[in-house]
Amino acid sequence: MSQNIGNVWVFIEQEAGKIANVSLELVCKGRELADRLGVKLEALLLGDNVAHLSDTLFSYGCDKVILAEDPRLEPFTVLPYARVIVNLILEKKPNILMFGATLKGRELAPRVSSEKKAGLTADCTDLQIDDFTDVRTKETFKDKLMQIRPAFGGNIIATIVNSWDDPQMVTVREGVMKLGTPDPTRKGEIEKVSVELTEAETVVKVIERIRADKEIDLQGAQIIVAGGYGVGSKANFKLIEDLAEALGGEVGASRAAVDAGWIDHDHQIGQTGVTVRPRLYIACGISGAIQHRAGMDDSKKIIAINTDPDAPIFSCAHYAIVGDLNTVIPMMIKAFKAKQ
Ligand SMILES: Cc1cc2nc3c(=O)[nH]c(=O)nc-3n(C[C@H](O)[C@H](O)[C@H](O)COP(=O)(O)OP(=O)(O)OC[C@H]3O[C@@H](n4cnc5c(N)ncnc54)[C@H](O)[C@@H]3O)c2cc1C
Repeated sequence: MSQNIGNVWVFIEQEAGKIANVSLELVCKGRELADRLGVKLEALLLGDNVAHLSDTLFSYGCDKVILAEDPRLEPFTVLPYARVIVNLILEKKPNILMFGATLKGRELAPRVSSEKKAGLTADCTDLQIDDFTDVRTKETFKDKLMQIRPAFGGNIIATIVNSWDDPQMVTVREGVMKLGTPDPTRKGEIEKVSVELTEAETVVKVIERIRADKEIDLQGAQIIVAGGYGVGSKANFKLIEDLAEALGGEVGASRAAVDAGWIDHDHQIGQTGVTVRPRLYIACGISGAIQHRAGMDDSKKIIAINTDPDAPIFSCAHYAIVGDLNTVIPMMIKAFKAKQ
């Protein structure tokens, strides 16, 4: 185990006694990074009466849970959370700190990084450990975190590296890192830490919360039928919905279809939508721009329907149907129903 570098940390997002999927995905990625570096993987678990979530974190690969419990940490508000995390960073000097790129993570991570002057790479799509040589100074840094993400509208994939010692901080969107299989026999250590907050840090009081649960679960869907600009109109999206219903799947969409107002943004798949890995993804009238493929090309089986035989979507499709979706989809529905 390395003596010099700090551990890998994951901020655990929890709500109503449930850990956010993205936090578990980051624990799985964090395990990989910690093993590569020869350090420990530690979870930052903040809240009130949340200790019981530790076993789940151990089962996904955490060595330790750093537990900060206090009634003032429930529900989440950014100032106390940022204070507790910054204090822990100053005391324990982690090497890497990962947050989910959720509403909470996007509010919290920049506050922590700016107070620590640590730098933060948002929306990473991959994380790797490698050595880095600064081309200007020729100085080489060992075992740095390669923070990989699309840049310039997805036209390039940038690798961002910190050349200083503060925690290397990143956010990652849900669904980007793979969720491993938990091992319930895995055990770990819980370290309880004290919570010290000033009056100014607890000045925000949550009086009432109204939660609107999402009606669609694209990330949990095993089958997704997605429509793009080739669907042609809002009314014609009914075809996509019909196929999804026949197959027992969810409806996805490209950004062009969302921008056209044919379907809600919750359905958007891709770089600025959600990342999905269903067993079956049917792309209908979607050209397959890199920003769309970034959110679906890990699907187990991809069927693409497109009138253009040169459409880029065919480069990642397992089955290519060159044809008009207005003809092909009704045939698919009929064939599926006949088989049933
Ligand atoms: C920063 C940034 C982020 C982005 N994020 C996303 C994102 O998250 N998700 C995303 O999807 N896009 C994203 N985009 C947009 C992306 O670049 C593309 O513009 C978009 O994916 C195109 O959507 P589309 O394939 O539906 O439309 P088009 O590119 O217009 O393709 C329509 C396709 O339909 C086919 N077609 C037409 N008629 C029929 C028919 N009757 N039957 C069958 N096929 C037909 C055409 O041949 C064509 O291939 C992003 C862009 C930027 C710059």
